Amino acid sequence: MKFTPSKPYLLGETLETLTERLKTGGHPAFRAKQIMEWLYKKFVTNPDEMTNLSTELKSWLKETFSILPTQRILIKGDPDTTQKLLLKLEDGSLIETVLIKAPDFNDPEDKFRKTVCISTQVGCAMGCKFCASGLAGWKRDLYAGEIVSQLFEIIKLCKEEGSVSGNTDEDSITQYFDNIVVMGMGEPLHNFDNTFRALSNLNAAWGFKFGARRVTVSTSGLVPRIRELADLPVQFRLAISLHGATNDVRTQIMPVNKRYPLEELIPAARYYNEKHNRMLTFEYILIDELNDTYEQAEALIKICKGESEGVKPMKVHINCIPYNKVEGLKWKRPSILRQQAFVKKLKDAGLSVTIRHEKGHKIEAACGQLRLQEEKKRAQEIT
Ligand code: SAH
Ligand code: SF4
Repeated sequence: MKFTPSKPYLLGETLETLTERLKTGGHPAFRAKQIMEWLYKKFVTNPDEMTNLSTELKSWLKETFSILPTQRILIKGDPDTTQKLLLKLEDGSLIETVLIKAPDFNDPEDKFRKTVCISTQVGCAMGCKFCASGLAGWKRDLYAGEIVSQLFEIIKLCKEEGSVSGNTDEDSITQYFDNIVVMGMGEPLHNFDNTFRALSNLNAAWGFKFGARRVTVSTSGLVPRIRELADLPVQFRLAISLHGATNDVRTQIMPVNKRYPLEELIPAARYYNEKHNRMLTFEYILIDELNDTYEQAEALIKICKGESEGVKPMKVHINCIPYNKVEGLKWKRPSILRQQAFVKKLKDAGLSVTIRHEKGHKIEAACGQLRLQEEKKRAQEIT
């Protein structure tokens, strides 16, 4: 679906593009830096509160840009663990942003880190068979400003609740959250340009100055884009949604595997490993009697150890996620015993593995579920 915003999104601007717009609008170029400071250092989005700007410039900002393109319509969950925000966009589309207070999966020892999970598309075109976001297909890509705006929604929430992280540095974004995971609705590498424009804004010195190592991008496995990501100068962390250790199992649940089968995906993951000299993550949803078998565990061990290809072991952490039930889908979560047996087999082989106990299970926090419910409600209201 084609959607053009009625005005450009201020949060999608870079220092350079904002400078250009100011010049065209007859304002001095140095104002760009001041505006960015209000947004990304003082977390102020209302031009009326930007006290060092002239009245004329404040009005120009309001007339020229749409400043916060997201509107919060629902909060679900528990402020002590996981809160999910349902956000409405200018065209009425719904997206989800989640704030998780839990151990960081990159660092399981570290308690109560605040992680924000952001969306990159409305729906998703990848059509994974277990995923609520994929069920209704792809509606549109998010603009960079809509991606950045999700973080301002989290800042607003933290301010309302008076909940800040351990960091007391007032100018630092880390007082609000410690990590960002690009694991909400959508396939980030399918909306590559907008996603990386948004992430670069967050990382920029004039932006949030949020460290790239605190950002994890999760993909279903778009091979050429993984290689492109590996070649970027800014090194974001990478998670690959593997979910199957052989082509026949992976293709059953992830159509993308037909296009980019394991023999292409794994070398791309290795390329990322080599370029970054850093651990990547395999996400592995556990689905009963499908991908949680002894044979799948063995195949996964082979992939990670590189034995069959005669290459060196991968630097990879495996994050097992017990499947979250999605209404209308046939898959089941394995019993605790089966989950444990799978994890034990990997651990016994010497792999780094954790099992994520979904904090969001009770509030439908798996990707896209809240939106799906809301869309269903809307449809019922219309019919
Ligand atoms: N499109 C990207 C990022 C968003 S999906 C990707 O697929 O990696 C984020 C994660 O949520 C993925 O690992 C996905 O497989 C997982 N997920 C989706 N539906 C789920 C469900 N019902 N239960 C558990 N995890 C789910
Ligand atoms: Fe899209 Fe990721 Fe869901 Fe697959 S798991 S449909 S890639 S959002």
